Amino acid sequence: MNRVIVRKLAANVARLRVQHEFFCTDAAARVSGSNRSHEHEEKHDFSNNIQQYDIAIVGGGMVGMALACSLASMPLTKHLKVAIIDSNPALGSKVCFKKEDPPDPRVSTVTPATISLFKDVGAWQYIERHRHAYFDKMQVWDYTGLGYTSYNARDINKEILGCVVENKVLHGSLLSCIENKDFQKTIYPSRLTSMTLHPRSSPMGMDSTSSRTPSSSLRHLAKLELTDGNSLYAKLVVGADGGKSRVRELAGFKTTGWNYSQNAVICTVEHTDGNQCAWQRFLPAGPIALLPMGDNFSNIVWTMNPKESMDRKSMSEDDFVKDVNNALDYGYGPRPKSSLLGNEDMFSWLRGYVTLSANECFEVPPKVVKLASERMVFPLSLMHANDYASKHVVLIGDAAHTVHPLAGQGVNLGFGDAFALSRVIAEGIAVGTDIGEVSLLKKYEAERKLANITMMAILDGFQKAYSVDFGPLNILRAAALHGAHYISPLKRSIISYASGEQRLPLFS
Ligand SMILES: Cc1cc2nc3c(=O)[nH]c(=O)nc-3n(C[C@H](O)[C@H](O)[C@H](O)COP(=O)(O)OP(=O)(O)OC[C@H]3O[C@@H](n4cnc5c(N)ncnc54)[C@H](O)[C@@H]3O)c2cc1C
Repeated sequence: MNRVIVRKLAANVARLRVQHEFFCTDAAARVSGSNRSHEHEEKHDFSNNIQQYDIAIVGGGMVGMALACSLASMPLTKHLKVAIIDSNPALGSKVCFKKEDPPDPRVSTVTPATISLFKDVGAWQYIERHRHAYFDKMQVWDYTGLGYTSYNARDINKEILGCVVENKVLHGSLLSCIENKDFQKTIYPSRLTSMTLHPRSSPMGMDSTSSRTPSSSLRHLAKLELTDGNSLYAKLVVGADGGKSRVRELAGFKTTGWNYSQNAVICTVEHTDGNQCAWQRFLPAGPIALLPMGDNFSNIVWTMNPKESMDRKSMSEDDFVKDVNNALDYGYGPRPKSSLLGNEDMFSWLRGYVTLSANECFEVPPKVVKLASERMVFPLSLMHANDYASKHVVLIGDAAHTVHPLAGQGVNLGFGDAFALSRVIAEGIAVGTDIGEVSLLKKYEAERKLANITMMAILDGFQKAYSVDFGPLNILRAAALHGAHYISPLKRSIISYASGEQRLPLFS
């Protein structure tokens, strides 16, 4: 009898294991040490040893983990000894979420270029096991009823324009991908407090801590000190520690930027049916986006002034849903009808062959019936580091640049940085260059600065163009949206650029 029960239990456990989501499995592997890569993962009892690494990644957010994942994937970099420093519990403790969990309000729209980078390193397969929503259509219009455009992936012979993924899924997928690679990483669940980029001589007391490490070798490394009292040395420090980067501050990189005096209210909402399109309407105080998330959920990113954002965060759910439906339809102004500028024939001389979406009519977005998450508020700003690299230190992601979320490009730029940096590091290793050498790191900076500044300028231009409600300007903006709708080469160029292609959004 007992044997039968034990067998049944064993079968149930096996079945549950199979059903269990991969993050739980991977996280359990991380904790139990059964995973192959765990053999390399050192515990953080470093009291008596000088810890030396090739690379110290400060900040294990989405961009820091993308760098680690890319390094773990390339033959020339996968043997590097890498430290990841971040107190975010998602990195160390048991991360466990299931497909049927309510969706997280923090999502990212990832571009086809990002998807292909994730596929290259083997991370996309993990995302596909969780909630995500590909979309092939986008509609953009404004509150005046004058400006309207729509984009379709088929305009550029592609199947999708992008995919909306919860940030926790992006992050967890990168972690899972790394766990399944043979990669020497050590996670420090702590935060960076100070950094010495060019230690001149052996720091006080260091010689006594380890006779195996000659103090002279440390002079060529950067020294990092952490909140938990640990310190470590690395040939290269990567600042992936977000918009308020401590690495950027300690390395003395200056920044340029400004606050937008706008906040974004974000949340998840529910519809009665699924949503397959990305919608964005420009309102007097800023744009509202309704992004498909899979199942019957969508994500709202609504930009407004700080006072309004606080009111909308605290108002009742019913009032908020009413406001959202208003903002996405009749509120603030009429739906676009026929063009103020005559009709599309005005642009016929510029059109070439007509894109498929040029014939698509304005559609009303699906009604929101329910709030499905908490409402979160983020202040918005633009920031760009004047330099991304100096000896032993480099910045990636939001540590190097933060942009307005109106086109969902921020983390895509960061992923671009992470993958570009790992390629440059591999190139350096191939020719025997020290990976902390400034001439090598400046190659990364040159490549990414151009791409990032171009995108920032476009997003900032959009933000500014839509922050004024003034008759003639409204017509000009409407004309620009119509131009983007009907002028086929321009339209294809815009779609390709927003998809992550490096070409500038000019006539091709
Ligand atoms: C409302 C909103 C909507 C957005 N939507 C999109 C979108 O649709 N698509 C898109 O591409 N982008 C979007 N973005 C931008 C995107 O969220 C950011 O670009 C992205 O989160 C940046 O990732 P990161 O890893 O560089 O930085 P972060 O996500 O800020 O991560 C930094 C990490 O560093 C750690 N850290 C900080 N300080 C230290 C320290 N001293 N020591 C150790 N660790 C430290 C933190 O714990 C954190 O884990 C949006 C942004 C906002 C505000």
